[in-house]
Amino acid sequence: MAVLLKGAPVAAALNEETAAIAAALTARGKTPTLAILRVGEKEADLAYERAAARRCAGVGVAVRFEILPETVSQAELMETVARLNGDAGVHGVLIFSPLPRQLDEEAVRRALAPEKDVDGVTDGSLGSVLSGSGGGFPPCTAQACLELLNFYGIDLAGKTACVIGRSLVVGKPAAALLTARDATVTLCHSKTRDLAAAARSGDILITAVGRAGAIGGDCFRPGQVVIDVGTNVGADGSLTGDCDHAAAEAAADCVSPVPGGVGTVTTAVLARHVVQAAEKAR
Ligand code: NAP
Repeated sequence: MAVLLKGAPVAAALNEETAAIAAALTARGKTPTLAILRVGEKEADLAYERAAARRCAGVGVAVRFEILPETVSQAELMETVARLNGDAGVHGVLIFSPLPRQLDEEAVRRALAPEKDVDGVTDGSLGSVLSGSGGGFPPCTAQACLELLNFYGIDLAGKTACVIGRSLVVGKPAAALLTARDATVTLCHSKTRDLAAAARSGDILITAVGRAGAIGGDCFRPGQVVIDVGTNVGADGSLTGDCDHAAAEAAADCVSPVPGGVGTVTTAVLARHVVQAAEKAR
């Protein structure tokens, strides 16, 4: 049976470092502060907001809530972003997406100050993930995958990696981060032919698809490390990943559970990005 790559110890190690930096900054009169900008009341957003706020409170990061109604106009939303950009007491801004249809999400992302982009949504942040310049923050979930691999001592240099999913929040940045660590990466999506063969080719397999059980038993093999990013909510409210976990745990060497894997680490990465943004802020 596979070793479970649990997120809790990874998050605890990150939180310890984050809390120490946050305490030092607060002692100097600069409390690291995250603004959460949410439009509407989507249950998924509310759940993540609660988890992020709890995590931030636990490490000494203050949270401000900017809640706008579902019917908010583009102008009002842009004004809110501009106000947060100009507020020296706010070091990071988390904007929930997708935004309601009437809003131009691209324009909102472009408007966010790059130094406050703690979830790596701006083109500048994503560009810095590709260039490796360190000038911006990577998306928290993609970074959380790397934190799991680092914590459990999984060497990436020269390994093959298969990432399934090509979104800008998970798949593409995860592929870039793995490449920067000298893995040889295959990036798959819904049009990939023979997905199972591509998946099995990866010494590391990262799945970010968003469909429960989409990654079946033919995708796993001995020697493999499987990181399941999928967070799929069942009709009964239960949380499942993308992978068939019984099959993954029977075949692979290491598997991250859902819940209790990547998701647990993501908010710890977010809090760390906020203290790093506060450290950089004048
Ligand atoms: P997304 O934007 O919907 O992207 C899904 C990707 O999966 C797309 O690239 C899509 O391909 C691909 N895909 C869909 N069905 C496929 C199939 N049958 N075979 C191969 N590829 C397929 O989703 P996302 O935002 O990246 O999120 C992915 C999952 O991660 C979701 O479950 C989400 O809830 C979870 N997530 C978790 C966290 C966390 O903190 N744990 C954070 C963010 C997201 P195409 O590009 O061809 O359409």
